[in-house]
Amino acid sequence: MENVAIVTGGSRGIGFAIVQKLLNDGYTVVATYIHSPGKLKETNAHTIKADVSSLSDVEATVKMAKELGTIKVLVNNAGVVADDLLLRMKDDEWSKVVDVNLNGTFQMTRAAIRSMLKNGGAIVNIASVVGLVGSAGQSNYAASKGGIIAFTKSVAKEYAKKNLRVNAVAPGFIETDMTSTLDEAHRAKYLQLIPSGRYGSPKEVAEVVGFLVSDAASYVTGQVINVDGGMVM
Ligand code: NAP
Repeated sequence: MENVAIVTGGSRGIGFAIVQKLLNDGYTVVATYIHSPGKLKETNAHTIKADVSSLSDVEATVKMAKELGTIKVLVNNAGVVADDLLLRMKDDEWSKVVDVNLNGTFQMTRAAIRSMLKNGGAIVNIASVVGLVGSAGQSNYAASKGGIIAFTKSVAKEYAKKNLRVNAVAPGFIETDMTSTLDEAHRAKYLQLIPSGRYGSPKEVAEVVGFLVSDAASYVTGQVINVDGGMVM
């Protein structure tokens, strides 16, 4: 049987780099997207248009993965932002971000874990350093990412004895579409906060995810690994 890895939001940015890493490491990869498969079409990944905040889409993704082999890895990467100061925050900005980032992680994990329990495996949730230290203008995003961190630790405790490891990766400032909208003034401001003196690449996040799902990390569970050039320590 093939070892299958599910990566949500695999069409761009960090998710696409994770798909490439897991394909290189020999997994059969099921990658989800919501708008367009993009560069996934140039890879061997199996693709599915699936909104992580839709239960039926999540169930269809897990069904596809089960048909391909044994689900060994789940990477909850899909995420969105809708930044606003708290007093201007609209209900739909709050609920969209929490629905995709936090509720999507919950739904995908609950749907996949049933079959993962039989054979063991590893889950990695992509959080953010913002979920650890907060961020003005991003209370919705920070709350969703802080929630993902607490969720990660709770699920890790529930299933540690079942050979199922659950960890989170907290990226700092990574060069993707999500951060490309920031103006030069903000980019320069953030750069001053990064001891490494540069932004990170999607590949640098994917390498840590690859480690966490591998046997090399067999005694690592319930952890949050920052990939942020030292921004938060
Ligand atoms: P990105 O370039 O904006 O890509 C987002 C990905 O999520 C795309 O593949 C997108 O699909 C998918 N997606 C969006 N909404 C979805 C939904 N409802 N259901 C399924 N998939 C959905 O983002 P990124 O920068 O790579 O971020 C990836 C993850 O890392 C996110 O969880 C983000 O919060 C986290 N993160 C990023 C940074 C950073 O600096 N970039 C820092 C900390 C944490 P389509 O291509 O089809 O639109």
